[in-house]
Amino acid sequence: MTRMRLGGPSVLPGQHGPTRRRVLAASSAFAITLLTGQRAGARSGNPFTLGVAAGEPTSDGFVLWTRLAVEPLSADGLGGMREPVPVTWEVARDLAMRDVVRQGTVEANAASAHSLHIEVRGLEANRPYWYRFTSQGEHSAIGRARTTPAPGERLERLRFAFASCSNWQLGYFSAYRHMAEENPDLVIFLGDYIYEYTLSAASQGRIVRPHDGPTAINLAGYRNRYALYRTDPDLQALHAAAPSLVTWDDHEVENDYANQWSQDMRVEPEAFLARRAAAYQAYYEHMPLRPRPSGEPNSFRLYGRTAFGDLVSFSLLDGRQYRSKQPCEVPPSRRGHVAPLSCSERLDARRTLLGAAQEEWLFEGFKKAETAWNVLAQGQLMAELRQKSFAGEAGFWTDGWDGYPMARQRLLEAVSTSRVANPVVIGGDIHSFWTTDLKADFKDPRSATVATEFVGTSITSDPPPHGLIAELLPENPHVRYFESRHRGYVLVDVDRERMLVNFRSISDRRDPKATLATLKQFAVVSGRAGAIDTNG
Ligand code: FE
Ligand code: CA
Repeated sequence: MTRMRLGGPSVLPGQHGPTRRRVLAASSAFAITLLTGQRAGARSGNPFTLGVAAGEPTSDGFVLWTRLAVEPLSADGLGGMREPVPVTWEVARDLAMRDVVRQGTVEANAASAHSLHIEVRGLEANRPYWYRFTSQGEHSAIGRARTTPAPGERLERLRFAFASCSNWQLGYFSAYRHMAEENPDLVIFLGDYIYEYTLSAASQGRIVRPHDGPTAINLAGYRNRYALYRTDPDLQALHAAAPSLVTWDDHEVENDYANQWSQDMRVEPEAFLARRAAAYQAYYEHMPLRPRPSGEPNSFRLYGRTAFGDLVSFSLLDGRQYRSKQPCEVPPSRRGHVAPLSCSERLDARRTLLGAAQEEWLFEGFKKAETAWNVLAQGQLMAELRQKSFAGEAGFWTDGWDGYPMARQRLLEAVSTSRVANPVVIGGDIHSFWTTDLKADFKDPRSATVATEFVGTSITSDPPPHGLIAELLPENPHVRYFESRHRGYVLVDVDRERMLVNFRSISDRRDPKATLATLKQFAVVSGRAGAIDTNG
């Protein structure tokens, strides 16, 4: 294991020069200092207890987010806020907030739990900005955002990091703190940003940090779960350090749900959609997403594309809202399981993971793509993984892409026929690091590698058993790397010639001061699908 050297070879000249690095370090430290003065649960004068965030960057702006809560875990889910409150937002060209270039005053109110989503426009392309909120004489922390270069404008390099699966109860978010310290230009959250469930009494010995309440099933419950997570100083530091793109997986609503179907087959779609609407509403209220019409939480368009000049574009996918239900369920549960090869429903070509509209949008995007790299940011492992059931029978996991193999085939064919440049898939969900070759035909190891895949481990969530999965690898030769024994995230430096992918791991999820190491590094060279192991 190589110890990471902060400020060593990871410094990118130009974009990450020494002056900017120092300013950013000061910025993160400043944010943390401001925030540690406020404790979750206690009623304080300052309503900015949940931090700030920026998201959905464009070449002339971004979305600013905050949610006011003087009592973040108040039982009604409204954060101890009742009345509408005027809030001023400011965007400046400097950390000291002296050179303010945009500002405005808006009203925060209880209809959206006093959350704000400010769409800032008219900024200069490809430069950093700082922002903060002020209400009734109290300031929020100062956050940093960055506009993208203009469409098609030449960009030499970009640094981004991606994460998934942060379970509050199972540990501290040290991985998020280290991500903030990497000074990424962009952070991507790939799902399981919260966990809706509360571990049972039987799991008490494993709980590092207790939850505020039971499993979230309604709006107040989901709001308080997000509020709890957002009181975490490491997560606040990460959001303050860089703009983000977000998509969800299952635990933002319920384990292994699919579209309108609960994992519990006894729950009717109508009842489940009411729960899903509450969860989607709370998700919107806590994420730096573009303002959206209220009252339509069950048609929540989350998928979209963000490009950074001519260098890289990110197609952010929603793999939960539109999918067919999992195949060959075992009543009364729709939970993921290893379905035997005899499960023919799995191979039905009408089954979809992304839904017809999103698929069409994605495939059209491949044809029009003009960036040097094209990243598909989505929730789950995409590569096939031939597994064994408890009975030792060969089969496939039903809740991921393996439950939807024809949909995957359509996607990889679209990648292949469009000849979209340098396709790279990133994912999460499986609480382990993976590097895979996405094959034209997984049954034939000699078939063409169509795209390169990297999956990040969890921030804190429990890993799958390392030994059991390692035993499957000889039957899955397209899997180039697997490691489940470490928690962490993935840091990516991309330039015109190559993408350098670092699997970062933390020393111990139970330690709030956990240290960082680099577990493994891969490179992808432009023009050639498939990862290269740089560690030899
Ligand atoms: Fe997870
Ligand atoms: Ca998941």
